[in-house]
Amino acid sequence: MTVRMIDGKARPGSLPGTTTRCESGPGPVHRISCPCGCGMVATASHQVISGSVEGGNLTLSPSLHMTAPGACGWHGFLVDGVYRSVDEPMPSHSPEVIR
Ligand SMILES: [Zn+2]
Repeated sequence: MTVRMIDGKARPGSLPGTTTRCESGPGPVHRISCPCGCGMVATASHQVISGSVEGGNLTLSPSLHMTAPGACGWHGFLVDGVYRSVDEPMPSHSPEVIR
């Protein structure tokens, strides 16, 4: 399953893949509405490899894993503005961001 990132306010019940760039904190922090559609919102302090939420082409590393208590367990990557679960084949142009 792949879901295109949506520039918006990630909150419980927002569309899967909605991503918000948070202004607080020392490093880049994003709030993400789980791509699986379960409605959970997670905070990710992952390194920004390239792109941005506003540009629709954000790449984060390492992988995103929904492991909070009660979370769905979704595990995947955000590459070039597309959320892709780990059971999907990776695009060949970006293997270097995969751990
Ligand atoms: Zn989920």
